[in-house]
Amino acid sequence: MMSKAWLSLGANLGDPSAQLAEAVRRIDAHKDITVTAQSSVLATKPWGKTDQPDFANMAIAVETSLQPIELLDVILGIERDMGRVRDEVWGPRLIDIDIIAYDRIEMISPRLTLPHPYAHERSFVLDPLRQIDEDVANWVMETAAKSL
Ligand code: ADP
Ligand code: MG
Repeated sequence: MMSKAWLSLGANLGDPSAQLAEAVRRIDAHKDITVTAQSSVLATKPWGKTDQPDFANMAIAVETSLQPIELLDVILGIERDMGRVRDEVWGPRLIDIDIIAYDRIEMISPRLTLPHPYAHERSFVLDPLRQIDEDVANWVMETAAKSL
C-alpha cells in the first residue's frame, strides 16, 4: 500500500541549498520512498531564535510504503548521517527534515504529531507546500489550527 507524505526541509549552516539538494537525493535513494514533487528553495528569516543565519527552505512530496513512524526514523537517520548535531531547539542546523503531513492522518504521539503542530503558523513551511499541493496546504492549515 502506497501512501503520500509531504516533507519540509530547512538548513542554515554550511551551504544550505546544497544540503537541501543532498537531503532530497538521499530521501529519493531510499528503496521505499520516491520523491514526486519539489518546491523551489526559499530564503527565509530565522523563526523562534532570530540571532542566527538565514534559512533555505523547501517542501517535497513523496510516495512511500513506510508507515509514519518508519518514515520519521528514515528522515532522522538522514539528518544524523548528514552531520546534524542536536543542541538547541530552534537553533542553527545543517539540515532539518520534518513530516508536515502523511495522507490525511491526524495523530498525536510522543515521537510524532501529524499534521506537524507548527506548520500552519510558519509561512516558510506553508509557502513551499502550497507550490506543490494547494489542497494539502489548506488541509494542514485547517487541521493544525483546530488542534490547538
Ligand atoms: P524542530 O523540527 O521542531 O526544530 P527537531 O528537528 O529537533 O525540532 O525535532 C525534534 C523531534 O520532534 C523529533 O525527534 C521528532 O520525534 C519530533 N516530531 C514530532 N512531530 C514531528 C513531525 N511531524 N515531523 C518531524 N519530527 C516530529
Ligand atoms: Mg525537525
